[in-house]
Amino acid sequence: EVDYRKNTGFADHVKSQGDNKSSEFAKSKSIKQQREYLPVYTVRDELLNVVRENSVIIIVGETGSGKTTQLTQYLMEDGYTDYGMIGCTQPRRVAAMSVAKRVSDEVFGTLPTLNKEVDELGGKVGYAIRFEDVTSEHTRIKYMTDGVLLRESLRDPDLNMYSAIVMDEAHERSLNTDVLFGILKKVIARRHDLKLIVTSATLSSETFSNFFGGVPVFRIPGRTFPVQTYYTKTVAEDYVMTAVKKVLEIHFNSGPGDILVFMTGQEDIEGVCGLVAEKIMAIDGDSPPLLVLPMYSQLPADMQAKIFQAAEKGVRKVIVSTNVAETSLTVDGIKYVVDCGFNKLKVYNSKIGMDTLNVTPVSQANANQRSGRAGRTGPGFAFRLYTDRQYREELMANSVPEIQRTNLSNVVLLLKSLGVENLLDFDFMSPPPQATLESSLYQLWVLGALDNTGSLTTMGSNMSEFPLDPPLSKMLLFAHENGNCSDEVLTIVAMLSVPSVFFRPKDREEESDAAREKFFVPESDHLTLLNVFLRTKQHKFDAQWCAKHFIHSKGIGKAREVRAQLVDLMKQQRLGIRSCGGTWDVVRRAICSAYFYNSSRIKGIGEYVNMLTGIQSCLHPSSALYGLGYTPDFVCYHELISTSKEYMSCVTAVDGEWLAELGPMFFSVKESYASRITKRATEERRAKRMEEEFKKAKEEIDRKEEE
Ligand code: ADP
Ligand code: MG
Repeated sequence: EVDYRKNTGFADHVKSQGDNKSSEFAKSKSIKQQREYLPVYTVRDELLNVVRENSVIIIVGETGSGKTTQLTQYLMEDGYTDYGMIGCTQPRRVAAMSVAKRVSDEVFGTLPTLNKEVDELGGKVGYAIRFEDVTSEHTRIKYMTDGVLLRESLRDPDLNMYSAIVMDEAHERSLNTDVLFGILKKVIARRHDLKLIVTSATLSSETFSNFFGGVPVFRIPGRTFPVQTYYTKTVAEDYVMTAVKKVLEIHFNSGPGDILVFMTGQEDIEGVCGLVAEKIMAIDGDSPPLLVLPMYSQLPADMQAKIFQAAEKGVRKVIVSTNVAETSLTVDGIKYVVDCGFNKLKVYNSKIGMDTLNVTPVSQANANQRSGRAGRTGPGFAFRLYTDRQYREELMANSVPEIQRTNLSNVVLLLKSLGVENLLDFDFMSPPPQATLESSLYQLWVLGALDNTGSLTTMGSNMSEFPLDPPLSKMLLFAHENGNCSDEVLTIVAMLSVPSVFFRPKDREEESDAAREKFFVPESDHLTLLNVFLRTKQHKFDAQWCAKHFIHSKGIGKAREVRAQLVDLMKQQRLGIRSCGGTWDVVRRAICSAYFYNSSRIKGIGEYVNMLTGIQSCLHPSSALYGLGYTPDFVCYHELISTSKEYMSCVTAVDGEWLAELGPMFFSVKESYASRITKRATEERRAKRMEEEFKKAKEEIDRKEEE
C-alpha cells in the first residue's frame, strides 16, 4: 500500500491522533449531547409527525444539520425498523462508508459492547457499495450507494425489505439517484406502507416536490454564521500553486481555525499536500504546527477517517478534499475555505464515443456550498481562487444533472430489464437527450443485449445480472458460451474493476517499470493482468512477494473479492466456470467480442485509427505492446485517455477476421445505423469547430474593443 505520508514527506508534521472521535466539542460532550446539539434535533418530533402523515416528504437543511446521520436513527427510534430496514442512499461510496461508521458508533457509542456481531459496523448499522457488502441479518439501518439500491430493485421490484428509504443528497442529481426517483415513484404507488424521504442541501426542492405531485417540503431551521468571501484580482494560472500560497498565508497571518481546501482529485490533492508540507519544513522549526490531511475516494479508509479526528491543541488542521466535503461529509471546526473553482465531472464525449472525467469549472451553487462550509461553527472566510467577474460571468448557476451529460447504456439496460419497453415513457425528472438514449440503445444492440426491435435479448437479460459495465458483462458471458474460458475472463474483469495493482512510487519509476515488464504478455495488456494475478496466486498471494515485484497486495486482495462475488453471480445463473488452460487465444477472442466500439486499425508507426469513430490514437506508454515494440494490425482497448494526445489504455491485439465474424452488423453492412452514427459524429465535430471559430472571432472583437 502506498504510505501517503512517506511519499510526500510530511510524516513529521502528522501528529499522533489518539482515539478521539471528533473535535474539541466531541472531546467534552457525550455522543448523546452531540446528537442533541444538531439543528435537526430541534424539530425531531414535528418531523416524525409529518413522516407519519405522508408517504413522501422532502427535507431541506443546511449541510451539517444532521440529515444524513440522524434521520435514519429517528426512524428507527420511532419503530420503522420493526417491519423492515431503513435504507439511506448516497451518490458517493466514500460517504456511504464513512457515515455508516459514524452512525454505528452513535448507535452503540454510549453502551458497553454486549454482542459484537450486532454492535459493530455491519451489525445493526451497515453499508453496501458495489462489490462490498458490510451488512448482516442483524442490519436495520443500511447506508448504500444509489447504484446498489437501483440494482436491488431488479431483484425485488417492490423493495419489500425496506420500511423506509432516505434518498440523501438529492440536490447532487447523480445519474442513479435520478433514475431511482422514477422507480420509487412507482413503488410508492404500489406500497402504501413505504416511507420515502428525499433530502436536499439546497433550496431547489420544488422540482422534487412537484415530481411527486406536490408533497410537503420540510425545512430544518439553519444555524449558520456569516462567511466573508474573497476573490483573486487576476485569473489564477496554476490553481495548485495559488492554493498552496493561500494556505500558507492563512496559516501565518490569521487566527486559529481549520482550513478546508477544495481541489478536483487525487493528483492535485497530493500536489497541494506535498507542497504545503515541503514549504513548512523549509521554514525550519519556527513554523506553528500544521496537520495536512488529504481526502479522496481512493484513499485508504483509515486515512479518510483522520479528517474527523481533532488535531492536538494548538495544531491547525488543513483538509485538502475533492467535492465530497462540499455537502456529503461535514467536518466541524472549519473557519477558512479555499476553493480552486474546479471539479471533476463525468461528461459524455461524443468525439470518442465514451465518458471522460473532465476538470470543469464549478457552478455558482457549488461555489456557494463550498464557501458555506466556513460558517458552521462561527463566522468564517472563503477564498475563491478566481475573480468575481469569472464567478458572475463564467460559472453556470447550477450544474447540468448527470443524466443529461453521460453515457446511459447501463441505465438503459437496467430499465429494459425492469420491463420499461419504451424509454421515452419512463418518468424521468429531467429527461436525457434523445441522441444519448439512441446511442446507448445502439451500443447495447451491438453487444447483442437488444434485438432489432429494441427488446431485451437473453444475452441482455443475463448481462443485467452483473454489476458491471455492459462490455465487461458481455466479455464474461461470451467467454462462457464460446470459449470455455470464463475462469480466465473472470480474473480479467475483476482486475479491471479495481484500481491499478501496479505500484509505481516516485523516484523508483525505472525499477518498478522493470518489475512490471517481467509480467508482460506481448500481445495483450488484459492477458498481462491475468498473468499478474496467476503469478501472485502461485506465490499464495504473499504480501512480501508482491511488494518485491511492485504489486499492491491489497489491490490483488480486492480483485480476489470482486472475483469471488462474480463467481457467485455466475453460479446463481447456473453458468459453469471453465478454464481454457494455456491457450489464451480464445481469451483474446472474448475480449474482442466486448470492445467493438473500441477497436482500431493501424495507420502509421505506432498510430491507430478507431474503425468506427475515425479517432486517431496511440498505444499508451504503460502498455505491454508499447513496451515490447509490438504493433499488430488490429487492436481493441479498454479505454481512451485524452491528455495532449489520445492514448489507448489496456490494449489487446486481435485478428481482423474476428472483428468481421463477431460483429458483422458493424463491419460489413453498408448504409447501416453505424454509418449514420458516424455521419452524425462528423456533423457534431463540424458544429464544434464552428463554435470554436465563432468564439475565437468574438474574443478577437472583444480584444479590439479593449484596445
Ligand atoms: P447533513 O447530512 O445534514 O449534512 P450530517 O448528518 O452529515 O449532516 O452531520 C451531522 C454531524 O455529524 C456533523 O456535525 C458532522 O461533523 C458529524 N459527523 C458526521 N460524520 C462524522 C464522523 N465520521 N466522525 C465524526 N463526526 C461526524
Ligand atoms: Mg448529509
